[in-house]
Amino acid sequence: MKIILLGPPGAGKGTQAKLITEKYSIPHISTGDIFRKNISEKTPLGIEAKRYMDNGQLVPDEVTIGIVNDRLSMNDCENGFLLDGFPRTVKQAEALDSFLNSNEQKIDTALLIDVPKEFILERMTGRRVCSACGASYHIKFNTPKVENKCDVCGGLLVQRKDDTEETVKERLDVYDRQTQPLIQYYKEKNILAKVDGTEEIGMVFEKICDVLGAVAK
Ligand code: ADP
Ligand code: AMP
Repeated sequence: MKIILLGPPGAGKGTQAKLITEKYSIPHISTGDIFRKNISEKTPLGIEAKRYMDNGQLVPDEVTIGIVNDRLSMNDCENGFLLDGFPRTVKQAEALDSFLNSNEQKIDTALLIDVPKEFILERMTGRRVCSACGASYHIKFNTPKVENKCDVCGGLLVQRKDDTEETVKERLDVYDRQTQPLIQYYKEKNILAKVDGTEEIGMVFEKICDVLGAVAK
C-alpha cells in the first residue's frame, strides 16, 4: 500500500501514521522527522532546514524532493510506504508522480485528515514529542502514562520549537497558500479520501482502516 497523508499541521498525521504503518508493516516517511533528525545531528541539511522550520516556512522544494526520492529508493519501500508531511506543494506532488512513474509505481490513496482551524491551535500548543524517538503526545488529549516520559522508549517529552502560537499561525497560512491546493490535485486523480479528524484518536484510526480496507480490495 502506498499512502499519502494530507491535512493541516496538527491534524493528527504523525499520530495516525504510527498506527497505520504498524498495522500494514510499511515504512513511515516523515519529512519533518528527517529534518529534525538532521537538526539534532547538526548536519549541513539540518542547519539549512532549521532556518525555515523555526519560522514556520517550508524547506525549499529542491532540497525536500531530493531527500524523499533518496528515501523512496531504499529497498524497504518496495512493497509500500506512508508519506507524512510530503508532498506539501504542487511542485513536490508533481516530482513525486514523475519519480513513481519512472519506477512504474503509483500512489494508492491520498488520505486527508480533515480538521478545521479552530481545533488546531490547542492541538499544536499542547503537543509534546519524545526527544529520543519522536513519538507525539498531547497534554490533554493523549497523555503519556508517566508525566513527561515517552511510553515507547522512556525518553524526555519536550515542546517543539515551531509549536508556539505565533509560528503555528504562520504554518497555517503556509498550509492554506501552498499545501491546500493538493486536495484538488488528488481529487482530480480520483485518489482522494477524507476522514473526519476531529474525533478521538482511536475513532479516527477506525475510520482510516475502513478507507484503507476498501482501497486494498
Ligand atoms: P501532525 O503530524 O498532523 O502535525 P500530530 O499527529 O503530531 O499532528 O498531532 C498534533 C497534536 O494533536 C498532538 O499533540 C497529538 O497528540 C494530538 N492529536 C492527534 N490526533 C488527535 C485527535 N484525534 N484528537 C485530539 N488530539 C489529537
Ligand atoms: P512537520 O513535522 O510535518 O509538522 O514539519 C515541520 C516543518 O518541517 C514544516 O513546518 C517545514 O518547515 C518542514 N517540512 C516538513 N515537510 C516538508 C515538506 N514536504 N516541504 C517543505 N518543508 C517541509
